[in-house]
Amino acid sequence: MTRRAIYKLTEPLLQFSLLTVALLMVLWVTTLNLIRVETEGAEEIAWISTLDLAETYEAQMVRALRDIEQTLNLVAYVSGQGDPETILSELSARGLLPPDVLFIITVFAADGSVLVSTRPPGTVPTLNMSALRTLPGADALLVSQSRFDAGNQQWWLDFSIALFAPDGVVNGAVTVSADAEYFVSGYDADQLGEHGLLAVIGADGNFRVRRSGADTSFSGTETVLQGLLAGEDSDLSAVSVLLYESDGVERYTHSREIFGFPLRLAVGLSLSEQHAGLAASIRTYLWRTVAGSLLILLVTGTLGRMSSQLHRTRARVLEEQLEHARQVEYLAFHDSLTGLPNRSFFAKLLRQRIIDSRRGKKKFAVMFLDIDKFKIINDTLGHDSGDQLLKEVAQRIRAALRESDVVARMGGDEFTIILPETGEDAQLVDASRRILNLVRNSYLLAGQELRITVSIGISVYPRDGEDEDSLMKRADIAMYYAKGEGRNNFKFYTDEINTDSLERLTLEASLRNAVEKNQLELFYQAKRDLSNDRITGMEALLRWHHPDLGLILPKQFIPIAEETRLIIPIGRWVLETACRQSVEWRNKGIDLSMAVNLSTVQFRDDYLLNDIEEVLQKSGMVPRMLELEITESMIMGDLTKAIAVMQGIKCLGVRIAIDDFGTGYSSLSALKDFPIDTIKIDGSFISDIVANKDSQGLAAAIIAMGRTLGLNVIAEGVESKDQMDYLKSGVCDEFQGFYLNIPMPSAEFERMLRKDAAN
Ligand code: C2E
Ligand code: MG
Ligand code: MG
Repeated sequence: MTRRAIYKLTEPLLQFSLLTVALLMVLWVTTLNLIRVETEGAEEIAWISTLDLAETYEAQMVRALRDIEQTLNLVAYVSGQGDPETILSELSARGLLPPDVLFIITVFAADGSVLVSTRPPGTVPTLNMSALRTLPGADALLVSQSRFDAGNQQWWLDFSIALFAPDGVVNGAVTVSADAEYFVSGYDADQLGEHGLLAVIGADGNFRVRRSGADTSFSGTETVLQGLLAGEDSDLSAVSVLLYESDGVERYTHSREIFGFPLRLAVGLSLSEQHAGLAASIRTYLWRTVAGSLLILLVTGTLGRMSSQLHRTRARVLEEQLEHARQVEYLAFHDSLTGLPNRSFFAKLLRQRIIDSRRGKKKFAVMFLDIDKFKIINDTLGHDSGDQLLKEVAQRIRAALRESDVVARMGGDEFTIILPETGEDAQLVDASRRILNLVRNSYLLAGQELRITVSIGISVYPRDGEDEDSLMKRADIAMYYAKGEGRNNFKFYTDEINTDSLERLTLEASLRNAVEKNQLELFYQAKRDLSNDRITGMEALLRWHHPDLGLILPKQFIPIAEETRLIIPIGRWVLETACRQSVEWRNKGIDLSMAVNLSTVQFRDDYLLNDIEEVLQKSGMVPRMLELEITESMIMGDLTKAIAVMQGIKCLGVRIAIDDFGTGYSSLSALKDFPIDTIKIDGSFISDIVANKDSQGLAAAIIAMGRTLGLNVIAEGVESKDQMDYLKSGVCDEFQGFYLNIPMPSAEFERMLRKDAAN
């Protein structure tokens, strides 16, 4: 059964309906049963009464008939002894004859003529001698049909026996005529009712006399009764319910032979009379039951309605609570900013995905996404814009993927993705590219157009891990690797990456005390004048002497230092050291400019100007001999603020160079707005400047623009004589590169400086 069906069953409306039906059924079944029992009882009483009455009336009738028989036998006997003419008067005088009003006694001669009678001629019966002769035995009785005597308006029934001569021949007869009504005079209306029946029937089936209430009739037949007579002659306990066609009354009927006489007795009790009381009580029962039913309907209806209302109210409260719970659950499992699943929900989904994939032996991928340099945006544009950006990024990631893919926000600028059933690397490459492309498009935040990128790490189940933890960790490792590889790209997890990332972890830990432990050192690379190769200045380049890993280049640890903000103290150390060194060489008579690189994090640090000022004062560095190198990307974003910082630097008397020029987004024409002194053309243009026309064109344009703006133009990364010669043909000012100057420790650099000065 469904939950819905079960819930339906608990609905009061249904419950009360069922209850009502049950109560009504009980009530009606009880009532009908009561009626049935009463009816059966009434039938049984009628049955027994019918038999009882039949017995009583039979006894009465047998008595009367015996009397008649006795009289017949007496007269027959006496008439054989004496003169028939006088016998009757003698017997009468002796009181041996029955009352004259009800009985007539007549003696017939052999020819059927009347010999003598207790009544005057004219009122005596006639005798059918031939019928008498066919009687079966000597003492057989002949019973006539009822006969109407118009003279005294009376019905008679004639009982005759034959008289025999000594030779056995019939030579006369004796007849006793009895008032036919006499046989039914015992009709008791108290017992038989107004429509009962008491009847005497001949062996021929004709009524001799029949009474029902006040109606008495003396002839006729009744078809239903005749059927009964034919069938159940001997059954003394049979009572049938018959519908009498003569008067349309239905009666319990019993009929039996009157023992020893060719007559039958029929007793009937009217059904409607017998059941009059029953019908009344049935009516009462039905009325009460109807009233009871209405009461039940009323009570259950009212209760049902009330409880239904209560149920609805309760259901509403429950629904509200559920809704509240759903909301709480939603909040607990979703990130309020982006509406994406949050960390814990993601963990659940990932767990489920692992279970499903294990069962179906399917692959799937986990992606770890991190917005590149998000912190800078957040710091410069403010948290509202940062939030806005996160929302947009979330939407773009979502838009780049399929509906079935799970995108979640882990917190901060980290997103995670589950790509179910996408285990093939080609598909994952496509998906990653789609994300990178969509995210890379420009954003409009606080009225400013801005571009960001993300780095993606990918791990695949089950190749890179079979549990939640390893899949997540490895996607994370791959993501860090992608960042290390220059950001705005994606990386699949491999075991080599893992080693790298372990390294990274160790690096991060040991970088924290690299300054105190004196593991940092500055190398110096000379800048030379293109026209005469003389050293014009130097750039300080940071090196880290790791106790286990040896010398580490900035590319490997500056990103970590930036992410952990360790770059602030490190950058300060660099500035101090470079300035101190510069002052030391100046004191030794080597007066050259010193270039120091700034990190984005430093550039955006509120204490930057303070720090520079302090270092200048402490070291005694001549401000105009210091040149700070910044990159285009630092200036983009909040342009106004960047220009303000640059102006602050300029106010201190310090020079500014744009490093790696040409790789960023700034246009050449934008240069005129920046308070800068130097542009350094990125090494990537120089490396193919001899062969590549595009690089030549760009370098030429940069040089020309720099010239126009009165800037110092330096070519970086000059590695060969060809490159140097090519540059010389242009009008570049200075160059820097491995060709003549590799970065080297201060002592070594000093020796080179002296050699150069000596030339
Ligand atoms: P950069 O400022 O553009 O520095 C020049 C980089 O090019 C140096 O790498 C240098 O060794 C390298 N280089 C010089 N000549 C050639 C050449 O002919 N060919 C090639 N292929 N490379 C050449 P390095 O020292 O590894 O530094 C890399 C970057 O790290 C620097 O690029 C700079 O952005 C950053 N960096 C170095 N020191 C510091 C520092 O103290 N603070 C900060 N914030 N960044 C630093
Ligand atoms: Mg530099
Ligand atoms: Mg550079």
